[in-house]
Amino acid sequence: MAVFNQVEFDNHEQVVFCSDEKSGLKAIIAVHNTKLGPAVGGCRLWDYAEDQDAVYDVLRLSKGMTYKNAVARLPFGGGKSVIIGDAKTVKSEALFRAFGKHLERLGGSYYSAEDVNITTGDVMMMHKETNYVLGLEGKSGNPSPFTALGTFLGIKAAYQHKHGHQDLSGVKVSVQGLGAVAYSLCKYLHEAGAQLFVTDINEASVARVVNDFNATAVAIDEIYDLDVDVYAPCALGATVNDETIPRIKASIIAGCANNQLAEPRHGDVLREKGVLYAPDYVINAGGIINVYYETKPEGYDEALATKHVEGIFDTLAEIFKRSDDEQKSTHVIADELALEIIENGL
Ligand code: NAD
Repeated sequence: MAVFNQVEFDNHEQVVFCSDEKSGLKAIIAVHNTKLGPAVGGCRLWDYAEDQDAVYDVLRLSKGMTYKNAVARLPFGGGKSVIIGDAKTVKSEALFRAFGKHLERLGGSYYSAEDVNITTGDVMMMHKETNYVLGLEGKSGNPSPFTALGTFLGIKAAYQHKHGHQDLSGVKVSVQGLGAVAYSLCKYLHEAGAQLFVTDINEASVARVVNDFNATAVAIDEIYDLDVDVYAPCALGATVNDETIPRIKASIIAGCANNQLAEPRHGDVLREKGVLYAPDYVINAGGIINVYYETKPEGYDEALATKHVEGIFDTLAEIFKRSDDEQKSTHVIADELALEIIENGL
């Protein structure tokens, strides 16, 4: 099995394989880069078919956190962890406490938090063994409204860049996925006068947004074919791909989902097509920015967190401008900006 030569390895500082026989814990903690501060990134619980898939996932996600935290101008490095197992059967206090002990052993080079299939309750169980966890109950709270605010401001920044103003009244926006983040995003968009076209696999989520924000419901697959100004992917990754790009009529793609481009080259295809893409890890950083404010010695301050999240508008405006000036795709500029910040400091 390739390790150091694997593309995703990308000079990870440390990768730790963890196990605990009694609780059945099998986990991997990846610390990609700690130049700007301790590595921070959530813990994902997933039933990987092969161990190699878990290694690939954790390395890719951990590197992504280095870039995301840097561009959000947080004093955090990048890291991530995965626990291998079926979320329906593997969860127990013993398992999360065993994982917490492994976090403790790392001595603060990595802080964990929620991610797919991990709740704040699970993180509280890890916390019984370690302080190296973030996003705790009773602290910064639910990150989703902050992710929604950043995404809304990101859509405005994109609209400003394309059209020279930020007035979204009458602007048609399609929203794919109507979960925790997208519900708040739809509220912001509706209040700004946008016309919403929405879809979700969960009918109740659709009904709520149709009712609350006068949105138009569309079929799951129809979302790519709509004649809209903005497409906001807020559910799955890889929805911007060879099959969907020819169908997308929006001139802006800006949403909260992670890993929106199926492959990096799709960012170049969008640019050639004249579609302005707001890089996912830049526009969806509101949640991690909010979490950062619970680490402040003086305590969490919602007003300061909100002000920092509002900076996503300016960061995206800078990326869009540089993309034009340097004739490079926005996802490439975002990565370059991250590397500059890591090299030169915050
Ligand atoms: P969520 O689970 O609350 O919502 C996701 C929604 O997508 C659900 O309503 C689900 O039914 C729907 N969905 C799933 N498959 C679909 C499909 N094929 N078509 C349409 N809808 C579908 O999750 P969330 O917290 O709102 O996060 C949404 C996205 O944003 C995810 O990609 C997540 O990784 C990313 N993100 C979230 C945060 C945060 O603060 N919650 C931060 C950064 C990134």
